[in-house]
Amino acid sequence: MSDNKVALITGASRGIGKACALELARRGCDIAVNYHSNTEQAEKTVAEIEALGRKAVAYQADTADLSAVKQMFRAAVKDFGKLDILVNNAGVVDDAYLLLIREDSLSRSLDINIKGYFHCAQQAALKMLSKKQGVIINISSVSSVLAVEGQSVYSATKGAVNSMTAVMAKELAPKGIRVNAVAPGFIATEMLDSIPDDLRQQYLKTIPMKRFGSADEIARTVCALCSDDFSYLTGQTIILDGGLSL
Ligand code: NAD
Repeated sequence: MSDNKVALITGASRGIGKACALELARRGCDIAVNYHSNTEQAEKTVAEIEALGRKAVAYQADTADLSAVKQMFRAAVKDFGKLDILVNNAGVVDDAYLLLIREDSLSRSLDINIKGYFHCAQQAALKMLSKKQGVIINISSVSSVLAVEGQSVYSATKGAVNSMTAVMAKELAPKGIRVNAVAPGFIATEMLDSIPDDLRQQYLKTIPMKRFGSADEIARTVCALCSDDFSYLTGQTIILDGGLSL
């Protein structure tokens, strides 16, 4: 990764988003840290990035809210002078069997996991157009290609992420912007902690590598895809799941 790139990461106060923020900073990027509600956690991420010798600023914004997203991108470009990388990471999971899906949960999942990704990709692309270069990474899930009971809503939103990645990539390739998706399997974060322990142990048995992935493993792949080593890769969904989907 060439030095002094600027990356905005959504949902970067914890989990995979935070790991991506720290790994991009280690590789020479300055970081715009988006968060939803936990200011203390976001400021901790900022402090950890600064300790690595990079600039970081936290921006509160609900990615489902277009006007908040517009304001965040305006502020970030004002503060950092440009935008090179977007990691669309902020997402929610709220599993329920089809017959038990609640309307409010369905709407929130669609708003964050789909509309939020469109909002941020659109604003990022607008900021990247003038330089005719940029990278967008959309965090998907292995659930986009694997039928897990109780995850019809989550799977649908992540399937949408894979599809939007391909189309965005095709539209933005002539503008010098690459778009790829990373689809993690089971990764040890607070999101995974929300699954009951017995179910987690059951899932573990189905993973050929017999372990959950780490947020750092996802972050290293995200960084690699952002780098010029992958300058000819666009529109792809890379599944990182320890063999779960095979
Ligand atoms: P997490 O719950 O630890 O982190 C998600 C972050 O997104 C949180 O900080 C949360 O506050 C933020 N967020 C949620 N809604 C937001 C909104 N509207 N605006 C701004 N921020 C918002 O989960 P994680 O495991 O780090 O997941 C990160 C991404 O990886 C998600 O898109 C998730 O679907 C995906 N993923 C996770 C796993 C896993 O096993 N952990 C597997 C596959 C995919």
